Amino acid sequence: MKFTYYMPTRVLVGAGCVAEHSQYLCSLGQRAFLMTGKYSAAANGSLADMCAALDKEGIRWQHWNQVGPNPTLEEVRLAAAAARDFGADCIIALGGGSPMDAAKAVAVLAAGEVAVSDEVLLSQRRFVKVLPLAVVPTTAGTGSEVTPYAILTNNTLKTKSFLTSEQVYPKLAFLDGRYTLDLPLKITAATAVDAMSHAIEGYLAVRATPPGQSFALESLRLLGPQLSALAAGQTLDLAGRETLLYASMLAGIVISQSGTTAVHAMGYSLTYFKEVDHGKANGVLMAAYLRYLTPARPQEISTLLSALGQANIDSLALTLEKLIGRVQLNPDEIDRFAGIAIQAANIQNTRPQPVQEDLKTMLGNSCKK
Ligand code: NAP
Ligand code: FE
Repeated sequence: MKFTYYMPTRVLVGAGCVAEHSQYLCSLGQRAFLMTGKYSAAANGSLADMCAALDKEGIRWQHWNQVGPNPTLEEVRLAAAAARDFGADCIIALGGGSPMDAAKAVAVLAAGEVAVSDEVLLSQRRFVKVLPLAVVPTTAGTGSEVTPYAILTNNTLKTKSFLTSEQVYPKLAFLDGRYTLDLPLKITAATAVDAMSHAIEGYLAVRATPPGQSFALESLRLLGPQLSALAAGQTLDLAGRETLLYASMLAGIVISQSGTTAVHAMGYSLTYFKEVDHGKANGVLMAAYLRYLTPARPQEISTLLSALGQANIDSLALTLEKLIGRVQLNPDEIDRFAGIAIQAANIQNTRPQPVQEDLKTMLGNSCKK
């Protein structure tokens, strides 16, 4: 056995955790730049709780509510300039993967690397300084609260690129399921499917680790009944929401060690060119990916399906279709997206490693007109 494991995020879980553990915020700094999307953080109570906690600890803050879905490199540069003007010495993100990922990039850029080019930002693994970061996930899916990745829309390369450095792991992650109670079904389903993809891909990745595989199976065991309930049109109560948030965090730890694979590589084009939600993009590709891997790795696929409570790939495909629907691509799009995906780093993290023709087959089988 041979592996390394590093997870430096302090995770605080439970209703009221922001108020209960506010003292940890003092270790971040004295001037917090608070990043959210336009509406949800104000509506779900997370913003009010965080502002009250910062006031209680005597930490000054400025609120930036301009983070849109799938944040671009241009947007994070604007936010970083505002954080610098404020004199921020720490960053706090409340929201889904978009505010959390944008905050990671701002933590790098506002610390003194504003002049750095996009290429350096996306390829460098160690920066001179990165501002400390705390996050409050309000979707249950990306796991970004415990990962060293920021996924950013790259309009130059027309895909999503990622910044990754151990320095962007959040220092603190507050998980309060109450903030996710009013998530609409469509976002709940897409984000839960993203978490499922992280657990499955992380388990199967070339860089999979033994602890990551244990977390992956536990995450799938918890996700399975919630996914089936959502597919049957049930609404989740607080316990169900807390389970999703916990399972998604576990799956985040999985990919923090192993990275993702071909599903995420192909999914980025569906999001960039077809505006398909990130989790849905992964979900529509999952059955074809598992069918591609089955001849080489039948036992592992069967272990994953049984952790999810699914009899076979067909039944998983049916559940996923009920949850997130379909995506249709024409032959030209299938060709183009396979050509883009084959260049992604996570293709090398897929075993057996697909060639472009395999990606075309997976995209074609998933997204038939
Ligand atoms: P998101 O883009 O952060 O949010 C999607 C929508 O959900 C937004 O309209 C947001 O509204 C709303 N929303 C968030 N929390 C809500 C709540 N509690 N109640 C009601 N509405 C709420 O979606 P996401 O799926 O969480 O994140 C997707 C991003 O994460 C993608 O860019 C993806 O590539 C990235 N990702 C990152 C990692 C990683 O390891 N870093 C892993 C997987 C995916 P507001 O805008 O008003 O807040
Ligand atoms: Fe993802």
